[in-house]
Amino acid sequence: MNKIMPKRIIIIGGGITGLSAAHRLLELQEERGLDLEVLLIEKSGKLGGSISTVKKDGYLIELGPDMFFTKRPWALELSKRLGLESELIETNESMRGTSVLWQKKLLSVPEGFLMLAPSKIIPFLKTSLFSWRGKLRMLLDLFISKKGPGDESLASFVRRRFGEEALERVAQPMIGGIYTADPEKLSIKATMPQFVQMEEKYGSVIRGMLQNKGETPGDSGARYSQFLSFKNGMETLVKTIEERLPSGTVCLNEAVNKITRDEDSWKIQTDKRAIDVSGLIITTPSYHAAFLLQRIDPSLYEDLSSIEYASSAVIVLSYKRKEIAHDLDGFGFVVPNVEHSNLIACSYSSNKFNGRAPDSHVLFRVFVGGALNPDICDLDDEIIIQKVEKELSDILGIKSEPEFTMIQRYPDAMPQYHVGHIAKIEGIVEKVSKLKGLEIAGNAYNGVGIPDSVHSGEQAAVSILNDLF
Ligand SMILES: Cc1cc2nc3c(=O)[nH]c(=O)nc-3n(C[C@H](O)[C@H](O)[C@H](O)COP(=O)(O)OP(=O)(O)OC[C@H]3O[C@@H](n4cnc5c(N)ncnc54)[C@H](O)[C@@H]3O)c2cc1C
Repeated sequence: MNKIMPKRIIIIGGGITGLSAAHRLLELQEERGLDLEVLLIEKSGKLGGSISTVKKDGYLIELGPDMFFTKRPWALELSKRLGLESELIETNESMRGTSVLWQKKLLSVPEGFLMLAPSKIIPFLKTSLFSWRGKLRMLLDLFISKKGPGDESLASFVRRRFGEEALERVAQPMIGGIYTADPEKLSIKATMPQFVQMEEKYGSVIRGMLQNKGETPGDSGARYSQFLSFKNGMETLVKTIEERLPSGTVCLNEAVNKITRDEDSWKIQTDKRAIDVSGLIITTPSYHAAFLLQRIDPSLYEDLSSIEYASSAVIVLSYKRKEIAHDLDGFGFVVPNVEHSNLIACSYSSNKFNGRAPDSHVLFRVFVGGALNPDICDLDDEIIIQKVEKELSDILGIKSEPEFTMIQRYPDAMPQYHVGHIAKIEGIVEKVSKLKGLEIAGNAYNGVGIPDSVHSGEQAAVSILNDLF
């Protein structure tokens, strides 16, 4: 008698997207009683992709992401479903605030200034971060007529509504910094659609913010603070999902390097074996998804490989608090490109969350590289660390050598959402939908943060089951 085999689904890539997809498949399998075999294949020796937490001598060090945004709810919802509510920690409200390095000095971003525009007028008028001329130009946003539909760059949007100072001193380092991107290319619609919506609805971003009392559309009555992490670091999410997956689901140190298709079934070639599957979810960076799909649909290859990536590195440094002259108010600082610094930003990790460094010590995370300063990533580790140490000492008045340093590189890890990104992704989604049993997911498509990656993986799980059952 012919035994009916379970449907086999392969997930390629074990970052948070792949893990979320695997976990959602498991949930739906249990809910619906599906006969399913799930395999997650990860090229490296560990799960989590960019997420990496290290514990060392009383420090908790995040080498990659250190928190997630709660207004995009999917990472928080997943954490709750995983029973991790009691592990969640909020940012240190008493330390809140960011500074900007301007003419070699750290100046606080005025209270209520949200990425590119003020939502509170008095602190904005009082700040020395902008000239009077610059402030008046920003307030012209209240009177400038809106542009027609169509995408534009972050630089074009900010220049048009608020002028060059707002772009140079805040929008470029704060928004460009998150995306490690060139603001002249970064799509405003794909990255900060809330500001486009405010222009559209209120005819002015500032008016929109004032009407919404500093909340951008999509904000909700929050029980949690905007940013959360876990007591034991971001890897908590990775480890908890890993523990939930049935044994035999995860295959580490195995890379998928070829995919072929035969009517309704797919063949996956790894560096160890060939596997026949009913469905697959590709969660690798899009350039690798492009490579894997080149034989299946050359135009999909073109679209996927046209999404550019930037490289960056995170440098971790620890000091005794008493060796630092600066009062270290806030969560850290960002560095405008016009400052010609090697630093994109510096985060005061031990201010942001409790339990990140022993008492009387400070832990910093410095970001370098990105689309505007790629060359630094070509240097040796020691040289990068030396450059960062020197600049940080000058900015913060540090009198001693660091107690220890670490560096983690992220080559081609940050997708660049250039103008036209949304239309490009719509095209990709349409092409993928024609290939039964295939889903692609990850941070290259509909959001770069952890919540969006979780959502993307979970949506892929739902779609593939709809395709196969
Ligand atoms: C330095 C840094 C700081 C960040 N900070 C934050 C933050 O604070 N908050 C936030 O929300 N987001 C942050 N992000 C973004 C966030 O970390 C990522 O968007 C998210 O982790 C992406 O997850 P992913 O699974 O899509 O991709 P990845 O984490 O890149 O995982 C992809 C996986 O696919 C594997 N893979 C690749 N090719 C193959 C193959 N052929 N076969 C098998 N496996 C393969 C890779 O080894 C990798 O494990 C940060 C990113 C970086 C780089």
